[in-house]
Amino acid sequence: KLDAIEKFARTLGANVSESRVNAVDSASFEVARGEVVGLVGESGCGKSTLGRMVAGLLPVTKGTIRFEGVDVTDARTEAAKAARLRVQMIFQDPMSSLNPRMRVNDIVGEAAVFHGLTTKREMTDYVADLMTKVGLDPSYAQRFPHQFSGGQRQRIGIARALAVQPEFLICDESIAALDVSIQAQVINLFQDLRRDLDLTYLFISHDLGVIEHIADRVVVMYLGRVVEIAPTGELFDGPKHPYTQALLDQVPKLEAGHREYHTIKGEIPSPLNPPPGCHFHPRCPLAGPRCKSEAPRLIHDGPRAVACHLNDGGVA
Ligand code: SF4
Ligand code: MG
Repeated sequence: KLDAIEKFARTLGANVSESRVNAVDSASFEVARGEVVGLVGESGCGKSTLGRMVAGLLPVTKGTIRFEGVDVTDARTEAAKAARLRVQMIFQDPMSSLNPRMRVNDIVGEAAVFHGLTTKREMTDYVADLMTKVGLDPSYAQRFPHQFSGGQRQRIGIARALAVQPEFLICDESIAALDVSIQAQVINLFQDLRRDLDLTYLFISHDLGVIEHIADRVVVMYLGRVVEIAPTGELFDGPKHPYTQALLDQVPKLEAGHREYHTIKGEIPSPLNPPPGCHFHPRCPLAGPRCKSEAPRLIHDGPRAVACHLNDGGVA
């Protein structure tokens, strides 16, 4: 089964256009097997929406999402259902998705039994192995979600995602709700799991310090569009898009010990009614007349891509 899947291209490409609310209107990029791609942008830029589209949790009205060469855009097709199992999502707040009346053993094991990855009889051993993988004492599997700390609950959420043997994890602010000291532990866990289980990640975070630490490559979104793609080191050393430059120029939020970007000049416009042309033009210090009417194209140059007229003939 794996062989057949591996015959397909080992990439996931997301090309999503004009969703119903235009939360994402132009986002084209690929994630290679084994890679960690960071997805960044201010809240409201569409990164969560894009993550949910890729995970099959939100419909895509225009565009295509492929997983290992298979079109999984329509989550209802058989091909998509099979592929979707290999794509799991990990949310910010695991508590909201952990049934408070179920024991962790059942929470973690139920989908694996349903999909035939283990049997009802062997489920407890199967779950114990997952608990160990995520750094929890297997005997805790008999407890209920409320008996765990926030960090432990996130580990349970991760164990549940791993139970169906995914290859690709979409982490949407998966550590944002945790104490800073716990965040580092969970990031380490993600990195260990990546190595041990050969996982690929789309790591969505508002925290640039975390992204710089964990991602191989970064995709920057602004109001539903991808504006820059670059290997992590290159992005942080030399951002090319004025929006990325503004993000990285933000004063570090010292009390949290992390770089965040709450303070770019000007309000982020509503994604429901974005400015014409380059969506960033009302806030861009380098904007020219062309920026107000014409949307810049995402132009690739080696491993980097930028969507800015400065990079494509100028702003005049
Ligand atoms: Fe700024 Fe114009 Fe480039 Fe948009 S296209 S980022 S407004 S210079
Ligand atoms: Mg979000």
